[in-house]
Amino acid sequence: MRLILLGPPGAGKGTQAQRLVERHEIVQLSTGDMLRAAVAAGTEVGLKAKAIMDAGGLVPDDVVVGIIKDRIEKADAQNGFILDGFPRTVGQAEALDKMLKEKGLQLDAVVELKVDEGILLSRIEKRAGETPGGPRADDNAEALKKRLAVYKEQTAPLVDHFRSKGLLKTVDGMKGIDEVSKAIDAALGV
Ligand code: AMP
Repeated sequence: MRLILLGPPGAGKGTQAQRLVERHEIVQLSTGDMLRAAVAAGTEVGLKAKAIMDAGGLVPDDVVVGIIKDRIEKADAQNGFILDGFPRTVGQAEALDKMLKEKGLQLDAVVELKVDEGILLSRIEKRAGETPGGPRADDNAEALKKRLAVYKEQTAPLVDHFRSKGLLKTVDGMKGIDEVSKAIDAALGV
């Protein structure tokens, strides 16, 4: 199974991706996690990405596309994968499409976690207030607000993009974690 999880920061993509991994023996490919690992390791990519990530902006398409291209070729991704946090722009979606076509692979579905924006913003502000100087440098109110604005501007258009390809499954992301998991399974028919 090859899936994309789509939704704004704070929608619960990471949590739901982990649950799908456990149930379907596929790997979670989170560009955010991979970029944070690159930052921690001080690689060339990490050095390029750090300031952009801390400010809540988007790392250039060619950087994340390169990371994903290498990653989906690894042995553990052959059984399937969930893309969490990628693609985030139409350019990335087109690059992914090309990449999969070249490999003779297809996406099964794109799951959109739909959340109420007002509630999301207050959740985000609460999270930022609770974890000053916490584990993520971009978990401060300013960077989180920027991430939400970037989502609306650059990533939200992917909803229509995937709908027009007949791949979109929309799930209510405001419910509890278990309910959302069940709704995702129902949407996927598994
Ligand atoms: P995330 O953990 O998915 O929220 O990602 C954290 C940060 O990593 C984002 O705010 C971006 O700066 C960067 N990032 C992660 N994935 C991408 C992507 N697909 N395109 C551009 N930047 C990304």
